[in-house]
Amino acid sequence: MSRPYQQAIAELARQAQALLGCELAASQLAQFEQLTGLLLDWNSRMNLTGITEPADIALKHYLDSLTLLPYLPQARRSRLLDVGTGAGFPGLPLAIALPQLRVTLLDATAKKLRFVEEAGRALKLDSTRTVHARAEDAGRDDAHRGTYDFVAARAVSRLPALMECTLPMTKRGGLIIAMKGSSAQEETRAASKAIATLGGELESVDEVRLPGLDKPRYLVMVRKVGKTPRRYPRQAGTPSREPIM
Ligand code: SAH
Repeated sequence: MSRPYQQAIAELARQAQALLGCELAASQLAQFEQLTGLLLDWNSRMNLTGITEPADIALKHYLDSLTLLPYLPQARRSRLLDVGTGAGFPGLPLAIALPQLRVTLLDATAKKLRFVEEAGRALKLDSTRTVHARAEDAGRDDAHRGTYDFVAARAVSRLPALMECTLPMTKRGGLIIAMKGSSAQEETRAASKAIATLGGELESVDEVRLPGLDKPRYLVMVRKVGKTPRRYPRQAGTPSREPIM
């Protein structure tokens, strides 16, 4: 059988090893190859990603998602929530790399979640589930509030609003990892009141460099140290429209 994405994924394996010290097994590489096929197939029918070269997908979607690995436990069965997962980033690559991690993939758009669900089934990622909801609504639901050890988000909203969409669902002692581009420092400053108000504490802003890309990315780490007041999150849409500033 021909394996069209073998080369791109072999390169991903090399980079994950060199950059993150992450050893991916043959079965995990096969899952990444399968995910690539599914993503490109579905992308020809609906808009899931603007990135369509297998090597670019491996670097900008997979390796970028895997840069969270050093912050996540290798052995414990912790819970990670991916808010605004879209086509499954960073949640699906993390679920492939860490089979014991319980990954919840949340998005407001049902269409994209159908892809994520299908990918989970096809790749036999039994540790994943999808939730179709606005983060603001999920944050008021006891099924999600104060539930997750880790909450990750990439390219969802500006940090002040994103804090209101993530801190309520984070366990006390848990960690939020917001994946940001060049605006990370400015957004972090703008979010300082939201972080404090919602029971968080800024831990660090870590620079990440991906091979071959000029611009660094940043991981904004926020620890949940207190309680989120009951009145948060506010109604869906309000955090972005009237961010806590
Ligand atoms: N994280 C993915 C997708 C980014 S696009 C990636 O990096 O590739 C942003 C996604 O966030 C969209 O799919 C959108 O539906 C979702 N989103 C934005 N605001 C949201 C909210 N308040 N609640 C749930 N999902 C939201």
